[in-house]
Amino acid sequence: MSTETADRRELASVSEPLDTVLSPEPVEMRAVVLREPGRPVATETVLLAPPRRGEVLVRVVAAGVCHSDVHLADGRLGGGRWPMVLGHEGAGVVQAVGEDVTEVAPGDHVAFCFVPACGACPACRAGRRTLCETAARNGVAGMLMDGSSRLRGLDGSVLQHGLMVACFAEYAVVPAAGAVRLPAAIPLWQAALLGCGVVTGIGAVNRAALRVGASVCVIGCGGVGLQVIAGARLAGAGTIIAVDTDPDKLELALRRGATHAVPAGSGSGSTDVVGEVLAVSGGGVEHAFEVVGSPVTIRQAWDVLRPGGTATVVGLAPVGVEVSLPAIEFLAEKTITGSYYGSTDVHAALGQLVQLVVDGRLDVSDVVSYLIGLDDVEAALERLRRGQGARSVIVIDEALAGVVA
Ligand SMILES: [Zn+2]
Ligand SMILES: [Zn+2]
Repeated sequence: MSTETADRRELASVSEPLDTVLSPEPVEMRAVVLREPGRPVATETVLLAPPRRGEVLVRVVAAGVCHSDVHLADGRLGGGRWPMVLGHEGAGVVQAVGEDVTEVAPGDHVAFCFVPACGACPACRAGRRTLCETAARNGVAGMLMDGSSRLRGLDGSVLQHGLMVACFAEYAVVPAAGAVRLPAAIPLWQAALLGCGVVTGIGAVNRAALRVGASVCVIGCGGVGLQVIAGARLAGAGTIIAVDTDPDKLELALRRGATHAVPAGSGSGSTDVVGEVLAVSGGGVEHAFEVVGSPVTIRQAWDVLRPGGTATVVGLAPVGVEVSLPAIEFLAEKTITGSYYGSTDVHAALGQLVQLVVDGRLDVSDVVSYLIGLDDVEAALERLRRGQGARSVIVIDEALAGVVA
């Protein structure tokens, strides 16, 4: 596998659509549209308007299919979130920029960031940029930062932008803060994973302030959980216990630095996950990470803690899900908290993580189980529903993505 992406000279030769997309007219492109929950998502021809002030147009090269896309497609993140062009984890090449954009320029390789922090709201001013209130409001509404959409169906009806990115498409218009410049040394099909799975997983380890030698349990070893394991290993964790229902994912977890694998199952005869983790860890772990988003696994993350331990919930639970905990155990000074999108300044974090990838200290490619096309997204969502395999990455342009057969 080559580690070189196309350089700027090669990019110039494939930038033909530049003139077209700079026109004031919307352009037609192919995109994966969620029309309504319960109906398979499908590729459609849609219209994309040019970037406005403070926005950039990105030619999408690769995009990761994340479990949050399943929740959106299944209508489990609340009503009113369709019709929508899906996709919030991806990478590409900047094609054009709107007025007042200085952060990136045409030809730059970028990863998408789905919380383009405004810098001005109370959360941003407090340094909690992934909790940006303006970005949250517009992201949930499926709009860009000015509250409007650049996406239309061919009939002229408005389409939402999936988490302000909408990168299951040939092009995306995003706020400038939603495109993070990357060194060309990282292949774009790997860079595609940075903006959700990698930053979310490794950022959660930072949020937990892990100390060298700490004992860790990671429940859920999909695209994000595997990054939590990589982060725990980089942070110097001692015991790292991986829990998942899928033996293949447990195998990947062991390869990424987990020291123990505990198979979870359902139905009679299944493993007693909590008992097993308590036995392996000699009475509980200092840090548990829940990367599934279900009440059962959140409760397990709590139950595997030793006194004084912290459970960090990274998994996205559908709207309306509640969790109950044995309140007496607060006497044991256990902590439970959440981590959203790495709880960090995503631009700064991505810069550091990219360097780790380029230096060969963080392998992101091994979490990719499937390279697929835009038309294969529904099948990828179905695999995620079944808990089968780790990441599927959509590759729109193999040469630009750095994929070598
Ligand atoms: Zn995601
Ligand atoms: Zn803000």
